[in-house]
Amino acid sequence: MCTIPQQKLLKKNFCDKKPEKMIQAEIKSLLKEDISILVKIPNSGKHYLCDCGEASLLTVKEAQSVSAIFISHTHIDHFSNFDGIFRHQIGSGEKVVICGPENIHRQVEARLKSYTWNLIDEGAIAYEIREIVAKDKINIYTIHPPLWNAEQAGSQDFLFKDESVEVDFAVLDHKTASVAYLFKEKDSVTFHENASEFKKGKWISELKIAFENNNSDKEIEIEGTVYKASDLFYHLTRTEGYKLGVIMDHAVSEDNYKKIKAVFKGADKVYIETFYKDEDQEFATANYHSFASASGKIMNECGVKEAVPVHFSRRYTESDVQEIETAFYKAFQTVKNN
Ligand SMILES: [Zn+2]
Ligand SMILES: [Zn+2]
Repeated sequence: MCTIPQQKLLKKNFCDKKPEKMIQAEIKSLLKEDISILVKIPNSGKHYLCDCGEASLLTVKEAQSVSAIFISHTHIDHFSNFDGIFRHQIGSGEKVVICGPENIHRQVEARLKSYTWNLIDEGAIAYEIREIVAKDKINIYTIHPPLWNAEQAGSQDFLFKDESVEVDFAVLDHKTASVAYLFKEKDSVTFHENASEFKKGKWISELKIAFENNNSDKEIEIEGTVYKASDLFYHLTRTEGYKLGVIMDHAVSEDNYKKIKAVFKGADKVYIETFYKDEDQEFATANYHSFASASGKIMNECGVKEAVPVHFSRRYTESDVQEIETAFYKAFQTVKNN
């Protein structure tokens, strides 16, 4: 939070302090439950949900404020609680986006069609399903009650963008496609008040727009004098937006790691599937999953600032999970002084 003295607020001043990180994530499933992670944008009240495990910690209010659901893959432990989510969303009249791997529209359709909807109005809710076919090919489908027929409404070359975030992704191999998502906050542009010899005014917002659009030649007028925008750019700094990743089920393989590095390198925080202990790594290989030190190592190689192991085999006890975390963080070498 930027604290501005009251009298300055009255003068409609500017806040030049870097905003607190905007994107936050909360694990909504208990230890023995299937995974579900809620991504929050505090200032907008917007929530995004990554996978639909049981999620006992997800409140009805949170489910109702989910504007987009990101499904990694549709193994039952990641998709079983989809019904529980739409149970709370139906009746809102809102449009909710669902992103997922190839064929996600058919799977959502099948789930929705398995209930009786004779008492529900057509406008009770609308889902827009975005099927990831390739990095630059996303098919869009719309689906609404009471018939729930998924109808293709076009395609686009990006997955998800709204006023708060942009979502990048990598399609990983888990013997089926498993999509890993990266939520990127928009870059922010900071004005250096102390370094400026000019009085503040609307020229600052004009300059910021010119800076964001790389419009060096834009003419900016300050106190009756016209300047070239690029001559004033020294007043501004671009701060890269916060990046938060969620990497679900994936095999330990060079091919997967190449894709993970391409998207998650330098991310601020990443949650990564770490299903098995190191001593059980033959199960990881057999089931196209990851294990503790492998997940920690790839996060280290990506140079992410913070990494969190998630989604452990349900047969593990708390002390097994501690063992996973110890091996994970040893490989990740977490101690970072910043
Ligand atoms: Zn899986
Ligand atoms: Zn899983």
